[in-house]
Amino acid sequence: MRQPMVAGNWKLNGSRKMVHELLGDLLSGLSDGHAAEVAICPPYVYLHEAMTRLEGSRVALGAQDVSAEDEGAYTGEVSAPMLSDVGCRYVIVGHSERRSLYHETDEIVAHKFQAVNRAGLCPILCVGESLEERNAGVTEAVVARQLDAVVELLGAETVSRAVIAYEPVWAIGTGLTASPEQAQAVHAYIRGRLAAAGAKPDQTRLLYGGSVKPDNAAELFAMPDIDGGLIGGASLQAEAFLAICNAA
Ligand code: PEP
Repeated sequence: MRQPMVAGNWKLNGSRKMVHELLGDLLSGLSDGHAAEVAICPPYVYLHEAMTRLEGSRVALGAQDVSAEDEGAYTGEVSAPMLSDVGCRYVIVGHSERRSLYHETDEIVAHKFQAVNRAGLCPILCVGESLEERNAGVTEAVVARQLDAVVELLGAETVSRAVIAYEPVWAIGTGLTASPEQAQAVHAYIRGRLAAAGAKPDQTRLLYGGSVKPDNAAELFAMPDIDGGLIGGASLQAEAFLAICNAA
């Protein structure tokens, strides 16, 4: 049995006020016996404050990115041991915005994954195709290339212990959502590819991300290989995020 998971990616949004108000609403809105694991990934500067707010709760803390290096002369970077030090359990690596806006290659993403793993944290590895790639019929090839880069560096067993988020680029922040069948097909492909590489991915949590909202979450999460969601825009509103958490 895989425990469902819902993770909120705040991206470049938030304030100290929002940390207190939104997390307060979240903590009072989630019941004790809540089935899904819930994580929030605020910007780096709010991690400590968020940790203080979440202490003693079942909501986990994650970061949105990380350096591939542990320490040294890398101005502006934040390392995985530092994220561990402030209480993170998860780190998103390879989000499509990092890949496209900051030119992160599959190799860089693989090394970031390695750094997170080395620090004893759990990577949330994002993979997904652009609209052009989907229309060209190469969705599986793109997802395979992104996955294989990490598998080649660390082995399929290690990758299968991470969380993997399938996020079609054309569905992120656009209001377009992959249909449950489209998402399920790629999730099943990812699980199959990890198995073919020698892992036992039955326990690997595969999240869907891309314009998940309260009104489409339940049908996506009902698919057999969709174990929850990585949520951008809707994670900034307590009511919407709680509704998505309750759907998982
Ligand atoms: C994301 O940024 O990971 C994401 C899925 O965003 P949104 O939910 O806004 O599409």
